[in-house]
Amino acid sequence: MAPDKHWMKLVDTDRLSDTYNVGVEQFLDYAFNKTGQRSKIHCPCSKCMNTYSKTREEDCSHLKVHGILKNYTFWYYHGERRGESNFDSEDVDEVEGDDEVHEMLQDLFLVVGENNFAFDLSYPKVHEEEPNDEAKRFYRLLSDSDLPVYPCCKTS
Ligand SMILES: [Zn+2]
Repeated sequence: MAPDKHWMKLVDTDRLSDTYNVGVEQFLDYAFNKTGQRSKIHCPCSKCMNTYSKTREEDCSHLKVHGILKNYTFWYYHGERRGESNFDSEDVDEVEGDDEVHEMLQDLFLVVGENNFAFDLSYPKVHEEEPNDEAKRFYRLLSDSDLPVYPCCKTS
């Protein structure tokens, strides 16, 4: 949450007051914290009007010498957002479900393919039926689910 902004009303009348100076410090803490900037942030003084970026020291003296922009009550340039909460939208990962399903299917086909291959080499005839049953079970499993069956995979 943005800190209290009542101190901004003192900009014309009482810029030397503790209330105003504490407000400036709180604003700077908030702004650097929210924007993640280490060196410079937009200076909201009546001269820079958020057009120029200044260091914390410069911001601080500008806000005391020139005063903060009186109508700059929503600190957009300093990280404040509507409906502000602790939720940070940048942390939300994009969900790519299609790719995941695709990869999962590829893995499954790989496993079945490998099993068949190994079977053909090691057990020529004794268990001949097994891979087919295995494959059928697998394909039944696939068609029972809503997963797409790729055209290259025959279900014979
Ligand atoms: Zn300034």
